[in-house]
Amino acid sequence: MPTISSTELFKRSQELNTLLSPCELCPRRCLAHRREGQSGYCQLGDTVLLSSVLPHHGEEPPISGIHGSGTVFLSGCNAGCIFCQNYQISHLKMGQIISIEELSQQYLHLQKTGCHNINWVTPTPHLPFLVEALADAVSKGLTIPLVYNTNGYDRHEILQLLDGIVDIYLPDMKYGSDHWAEQFSKLPDYTAISVAAIREMYRQVGTLQLDKNHIAQRGLLIRHLVLPEGTAGSSKVFQSIAAIDPQIPVSIMAQYHPCYQAISHPILGKRITLKEYQQVLEVFEESGLGNAYLQDITDLEQQDTFFPDFEKPADRIFKK
Ligand code: SF4
Repeated sequence: MPTISSTELFKRSQELNTLLSPCELCPRRCLAHRREGQSGYCQLGDTVLLSSVLPHHGEEPPISGIHGSGTVFLSGCNAGCIFCQNYQISHLKMGQIISIEELSQQYLHLQKTGCHNINWVTPTPHLPFLVEALADAVSKGLTIPLVYNTNGYDRHEILQLLDGIVDIYLPDMKYGSDHWAEQFSKLPDYTAISVAAIREMYRQVGTLQLDKNHIAQRGLLIRHLVLPEGTAGSSKVFQSIAAIDPQIPVSIMAQYHPCYQAISHPILGKRITLKEYQQVLEVFEESGLGNAYLQDITDLEQQDTFFPDFEKPADRIFKK
C-alpha cells in the first residue's frame, strides 16, 4: 500500500493533473490539450477509459499468487505496437468511461475479493485519475500493494511523483535497439528512455521482495517478450538490467503470437521457435543476471492464458 497518506495522494494527483493539459505525462510530450477536448497520441482525453477489472491468474506467480492479481485494464496506449495482443483496448479503444468514485470502488472490490494487489495495466496516460481514485480508496481502507504494469516508455520525472505510491513496478523492457522499437512500436529513443525509467523504479523500490507465501510485496520485476529473429535485442536488454543490479528478476516471455497488424509481417508474422527461446536463455545466463521467470514454450498452444478477449468489457467490471 502507499506509504503516503490519502491527503498526500490527493495532492500528487493534483500535481499530475497539471501535466495533463497540455499533456506531458509520457515521453511523447505531445502537448494535447486533453482538458479542452483534444486527444493525444494515446487517443485519450480527460476521463478514465476502463476496459475491465478482474482477478487475473495469468501474471507471474508472485503477482497472481493464489487469489489473482486485481487487474485494472485501461484503454488507450502511448505506444503503437503493431503486434499488440491487447489491440482491442490499446488501439481500438474499447472501454467505458468510469468516474473517480466508481474506480475507487473497483479497487476496494478487488481487495474484498481477495486479490493480492491492485494491478494498473498501461497506467501512464491515466495517472492523475488513477491516483485520485487511489487517494479515495486508501481513505476507505485499501491496503494491498499497488502494481505499476507499464510498457516501460515512461518519463523518469513522472515516475518520481509516484515515489511512495507504487509498491511493485512491472515494466516491459521491450527492445535493445531503437531501430526495431521505432519500426514495430513507434517508440522513439525507447532504449535510453526505458533504462532511465527502470533506474528510477529501482531507486524507489529495489529488487523484488516476496512474503512467506511467495507473493510479491515490493520491488521491481522486468518483463521481456522474445520476438522473432532476435529483433527484441535480448542481449542488450539483459546487459542494461545487469548494469543496474544483477539481482533484478526478469520474466522472459515466449508467448509472442502474431496478431493485429503483424499477421502478414515478414518478421513478426510468425511465432518464435524453441531454438530462439533457448538462445535467449543462453544469452541471459551469459549476462550475469541470475533470477528469471520462464514460460514453458510447449504451453503456447493454450492461447487463452495469454490472450484475453476484450470484446465484452462491460461484463468484466464489477457492479455494485
Ligand atoms: S500520455 Fe498521451 S496525450 Fe500525454 S503525452 Fe503521452 S501520448 Fe500524449
